[in-house]
Amino acid sequence: MSAATAELVLPSYLEQSIEVKHSFRELKARPPVLEIARLGKDFATPRGVVTALSEVSFTVHKKEFVSVIGPSGCGKSTLIRLLAGLETPSRGCVSLDGKSVSGPGAERGMVFQSYTLFPWLCVRENVMFGPRLRGVARDVARTKAGEWLELVGLTKFADHYPDQLSGGMKQRVAIARALANEPRILLMDEPFGALDAQTRCDMQSHLIRIWDNVDLTVLFITHDLDEAIYLADRIVVLAAHPGRVAEVIEVPVPRPRERAHFLSGPFLATKERLETLIYGR
Ligand code: ADP
Ligand code: MG
Repeated sequence: MSAATAELVLPSYLEQSIEVKHSFRELKARPPVLEIARLGKDFATPRGVVTALSEVSFTVHKKEFVSVIGPSGCGKSTLIRLLAGLETPSRGCVSLDGKSVSGPGAERGMVFQSYTLFPWLCVRENVMFGPRLRGVARDVARTKAGEWLELVGLTKFADHYPDQLSGGMKQRVAIARALANEPRILLMDEPFGALDAQTRCDMQSHLIRIWDNVDLTVLFITHDLDEAIYLADRIVVLAAHPGRVAEVIEVPVPRPRERAHFLSGPFLATKERLETLIYGR
């Protein structure tokens, strides 16, 4: 066999099996939770106006897992800060369940890359913090916190303090803390970016298990191609300068997904497409 004929021939990333086609038909029939319409953001800098985002539009449906990927500086963090209500748009709008977003709200849960736990509170108290702030009775908040900690596998560490935990465990507490507010959508900005490769893989599988068990819609920012494909129903690919949508890809890899899928035709075809869009190769 010559080298040319031995070369791997990938399917098109647009090719979908009947079951994948069916799951997208079902997904798109669900109501939209998050709608982003012609969103734009400018920053005034000493060197003039920087357009961080321009004409960004996409929809996230109920129980959908959307990844947003793009090169450094393409506006991923700006996008998530706009969605969280931490920045105001220069143009366009963001709506949650049909209502325009203006300012932060408990219905949007946030998990960042850097650990944002309160170091003076134990794990359980960190998880109880949001519900207590919203006036939930202490014993109710405590019981619920116990349930969320069980879901993320940290029951035994409820009385530990953040500095007694590994990086992966801290991020699991951050997820439990965000879920304790029962958000309509979880916004995650490179949440596993600071973890070592093995822990990162474990956390990805763990997040999928949680997503399978809870009625949860996720928008997940990453610059890791494998992570985006493994996790997402759809991937929003951003291009830079100005940050804009290059393509929205329907991931053709069926669920449930396993690590073995990383070498499958649909997975590799999607990865090749992402590489072309992001790195131009
Ligand atoms: P990413 O998260 O994809 O790396 P960012 O959203 O952080 O990208 O940044 C997108 C662009 O907007 C970059 O060019 C960045 O320099 C610029 N930018 C972001 N925040 C500000 C700010 N507060 N002031 C000025 N420029 C900013
Ligand atoms: Mg960023």
